[in-house]
Amino acid sequence: STSIAVFFQRRKKEHQLQQFTPRPIELRSDEIVSGVSGLIGNTPLVRINSLSDALGVEILGKAEFLNIGGSVKDRVALQMINDAENQGLIRPYTGSRIFEGTVGSTGISIATIARARGYETTIIMPDDVAQEKVKALQALGATVERVRPASIVDKKQYVNLARQRANKFGEADSIDESDPDFKTQTSHAFHSPSDTVLVTKPSHHVEFNTTGSVSFEDDEPDQPRGFFADQFENRSNFDAHYTGTGPEIWRQTNGNLVAFIAGAGTGGTVAGVGQYLKSMNQGVFVAIADPEGSGLYNKVKHGVMFDRREAEGTKRRHQVDTVVEGIGINRLTHNIELALPILDDAFRITDAEAVAMSRYLVKHDGLFLGSSSACNLMACVKLAKQKDWRDGQQIVTILCDSGTRHYSKLWNDEYLRKAEIPIDLSIVEDLLGSP
Ligand code: PMP
Repeated sequence: STSIAVFFQRRKKEHQLQQFTPRPIELRSDEIVSGVSGLIGNTPLVRINSLSDALGVEILGKAEFLNIGGSVKDRVALQMINDAENQGLIRPYTGSRIFEGTVGSTGISIATIARARGYETTIIMPDDVAQEKVKALQALGATVERVRPASIVDKKQYVNLARQRANKFGEADSIDESDPDFKTQTSHAFHSPSDTVLVTKPSHHVEFNTTGSVSFEDDEPDQPRGFFADQFENRSNFDAHYTGTGPEIWRQTNGNLVAFIAGAGTGGTVAGVGQYLKSMNQGVFVAIADPEGSGLYNKVKHGVMFDRREAEGTKRRHQVDTVVEGIGINRLTHNIELALPILDDAFRITDAEAVAMSRYLVKHDGLFLGSSSACNLMACVKLAKQKDWRDGQQIVTILCDSGTRHYSKLWNDEYLRKAEIPIDLSIVEDLLGSP
């Protein structure tokens, strides 16, 4: 009987040990998380088997499409809203409204978190972005305004409009329809029935300040307020990646990665992750994947976004109906400026290359990804080919969103045919096979 007692004691001990051995806190798939914010971040790093096997170096993608809002932008939206709350700029359930100018992903992320936190959302976006993003925003009850793509110097450009809407929030006639600047270009499409009325109480107007030090008289904290999230200039965007995505990648690779590549839309991802990785190891190579029509490639390679000599006939980003959404820009935003000092290189990625990579990944890996992910992976292959890396060295990139956000353009063969963009896997195969 003593031996049985010993056996049970040992069993009990083993059981306790099993129960109380600390697990890595980041692996939380078996834990209960609190609401949608618990479904943001801590994404896996996935080895892209086809590319890694062909190249000898490890190509690793941060699976950001697994965030609840479907993209890397969830991290940024969460950080911007948290920071705005902490700075007293908005309070939940006061009828306050978050405004943002976005090509879609950030809007979906903001609308998701806003719903859970008691805010309304107005999203202003160019009217040439994929329809499925508009549908997602509509389902989330955001007010969506779609405008003609325009240059940033144009008052009607979507980011400028979002700023104006936020500043005018609370004024009885929040949009001056008689202003000829607004007249032809804006339309209130896709109002959800519950979300059509802009609150008409006067409110405090708060200009966002990129240093993060915002102050105002908070004599009426429960007043509804308009908040312009301003992902392009907002430091919280950088912080989300500097304190989240970057450290996660460092931990997941045990600090052994040799390079990090990302496309830049606002620049927040590449700036935040890149700066964090370089702070841990100066030797990590950081580069951007830049689509057609974007000026960043030139900025990194030649110091200017648009060389006057080549400006003739070179189309600006907003003039190009490119298949790639979410990355590429022609101006220096606060978050791009945080990225520029740490960029070691830039890779120009054509629409045809992005399309080829998207098809290649489905064929060989079953990975159904969006256009910026395809650009990023194409740039990884170019970098892997360009340098003399040792076998097994790790190149990390971001898988920003999934193909489900791109049915109407990248994953629409008819659209590609009309746009004269070939679907030609040999573009990737030849590059992989080249010496
Ligand atoms: N991919 C997608 C799908 C995006 O929506 C964005 C954000 N515009 C990016 C990549 C680029 O990220 P960032 O804004 O951090 O440069």
